[in-house]
Amino acid sequence: MEKIVVLGAGESGVGSAILAKKQNIDVFLSDNGDIAPKYIDMLKEWGIEYEQNTHTIDRILDATLCIKSPGIPDNISIIEQIKENNIPIISEIEFGSRYCDAKYICITGSNGKTTTTTIVHQILVDAGYNVGVAGNIGSSFAYQVATEQRDWYVLELSSFQLDGMSQFKADLAIITNITPDHLDRYNYDFSLYQSSKFKITQNMDKSDTLLYCMDDPNILGYMLSHKEVFMMNTIPFSVNDTLLNGIYLNKEDNNIVFNFGDIELVIDRSKVQVLGLHNVYNIMAAAGVALLVGVDSDSILKTIYDFKGVEHRMEVICERDNVLFINDSKATNVDSAMYALQAIDRPVVWIAGGVDKGNDYTSIYPMIDKKVTTLICMGTNNDKLIEAFTNVIPYIYSTSSLSEAIKCIRTVYKKGDCVLLSPMCASFDLFKNYEDRGEQFKKAIAKMPSKVRE
Ligand code: ADP
Repeated sequence: MEKIVVLGAGESGVGSAILAKKQNIDVFLSDNGDIAPKYIDMLKEWGIEYEQNTHTIDRILDATLCIKSPGIPDNISIIEQIKENNIPIISEIEFGSRYCDAKYICITGSNGKTTTTTIVHQILVDAGYNVGVAGNIGSSFAYQVATEQRDWYVLELSSFQLDGMSQFKADLAIITNITPDHLDRYNYDFSLYQSSKFKITQNMDKSDTLLYCMDDPNILGYMLSHKEVFMMNTIPFSVNDTLLNGIYLNKEDNNIVFNFGDIELVIDRSKVQVLGLHNVYNIMAAAGVALLVGVDSDSILKTIYDFKGVEHRMEVICERDNVLFINDSKATNVDSAMYALQAIDRPVVWIAGGVDKGNDYTSIYPMIDKKVTTLICMGTNNDKLIEAFTNVIPYIYSTSSLSEAIKCIRTVYKKGDCVLLSPMCASFDLFKNYEDRGEQFKKAIAKMPSKVRE
């Protein structure tokens, strides 16, 4: 008889345990830290056995299947012992898909996953589809499988989730981009991270379609060198090239053109509300997938033109004293901040910093150009940032708290500027997470007395 052990009592772990229980499978959940009260309530409500602040090895090794939360790395002792005992380890998504016959639209990439997933989901909801959204977003996929019946799921998949998937197959998949991130979990080997992202295409066949960003050399290079594994249809999207069979940006009028199969659709970019070229990519991928699902063009256009973006991603806080304040707290790597700077056509007072994830900042120098007038470093250790940007940005200030950063912002900004929080770093030196950082920043900006220096 199957015996499941779930490791990690976060959203995905608790959802998996509930699904297992629903399937009458013997299930035990183990977390070596504290379990949040809301999850303890759920475990009790469903009558699931669990432990916290410990791992009881014998009980864990007695399982026939392990479901591991994506946040748990592979190189810790408990995981090594599970592997030595030949107990298969899978992710929540893999597990959930065993009990679900919906169709899947799956989205991965280093940046743009949540935004693209949100747009796809919104288009399908607006068009009246019975669709759920899960993965790195909202309530867990496994929990939804246990409690709801859907025709479609839009799944945001991180590389960690993909690592624990083997039988799962997407019907439609998107790879937004692949740039260095999370390399600490991949032995600092970019090719391992890249292969992990491409697991989204595993098991896809001729009836399935992958949409991919053709402007990204890390995607294109991988696809060219692994041609034999790509059985599915592929549709590229690009802002650089005009594509006869794909999705592209028309250089003459700046509109987004969908040109594949017998599809012809144009998105008028002047009606799109979200800022930045990165959002053009996200819209290309999301609307492209929706067309393949069969959503009516007018319905797609309406949702795209109504879309105002996702919180903490190039979120306009306010425009005051002719200064634009933007919260891009989710920009936790260099590439996402690069797109943020590219999207702004004013002098920028840039707030960055936090926990450096092994960043190489040189790639962002060309984007700084003369646009960034001031860098305000906000973190407990700003040395690396200061060193990287001395001689690149005229004015650099070092602050070690949000309140110090806000005082500094107030002193330096001028009429016509954009004040941008786009940190390139993780947040946990000063904040709980990127949401907390974004929320505190928004509140502080809202409270900041207005001031204009001519
Ligand atoms: P993810 O879920 O992959 O982290 P998000 O949609 O949450 O992606 O966006 C994360 C950060 O990356 C934000 O700062 C956002 O402005 C930026 N971003 C969004 N889409 C893209 C893209 N296609 N390319 C590069 N950066 C992007």
